[in-house]
Amino acid sequence: MRIGIGLDVHPFKRGRACVLGGVTIPYEKGLDGHSDADVCIHALIDALLSACRLDDIGAYFPPTDPSLTGISSLVLLEKVAALVRTHGFEIVDCDLVIAADAPRISPHRSAMRAAMAAALSIDVEQIGIKATTCEGLGFVGRREGIVAQAVALLDKAAEAASAAPVLSTCPTSAPAASAPETPAPAVMSSAPAQPVETPTAQDSARTSTTHTPAH
Ligand code: MG
Repeated sequence: MRIGIGLDVHPFKRGRACVLGGVTIPYEKGLDGHSDADVCIHALIDALLSACRLDDIGAYFPPTDPSLTGISSLVLLEKVAALVRTHGFEIVDCDLVIAADAPRISPHRSAMRAAMAAALSIDVEQIGIKATTCEGLGFVGRREGIVAQAVALLDKAAEAASAAPVLSTCPTSAPAASAPETPAPAVMSSAPAQPVETPTAQDSARTSTTHTPAH
């Protein structure tokens, strides 16, 4: 089992669509960022990457990449789900909390869960969303932006687990002579993560030092 946590913040900007959890929500302004600025999905992506002990979202989807301008974060989430599975894990459960004094989240919660579950290829029951307000306090309370936090629980994928040596409850028992040789379990590499979309040398140099949060 692995657990990861992610946090993201985006400011509001007029003239932008308000996209949260893959759903466009009617509101007078949207979140600003290089992509669609879906703060919920960005937090979830970082939780998933962290659970795999991989680098953060900025390393995989640098805000300097022009191909990512305005991209739906659902596309990024699909790529990260594939990356998680490439590393031998399955997604067990995800949960998010959104801090927003506006817009109201609850009317869109079901659609958001469905959209993110579809992108992750998991059941909608495997992802939860809750929302809270900040009671007028701080930048969230002033309706200047939104904060989202996510956790993701991963487990070794079934095919990887079945390939792992079975630990006997009886240390004296020996494997049957006819038992096939068990391949080594899939383990995560300690080598640097392989980006989903290979960044340029310039991007790599930049993302290797700092994380720029505005995706
Ligand atoms: Mg972000």
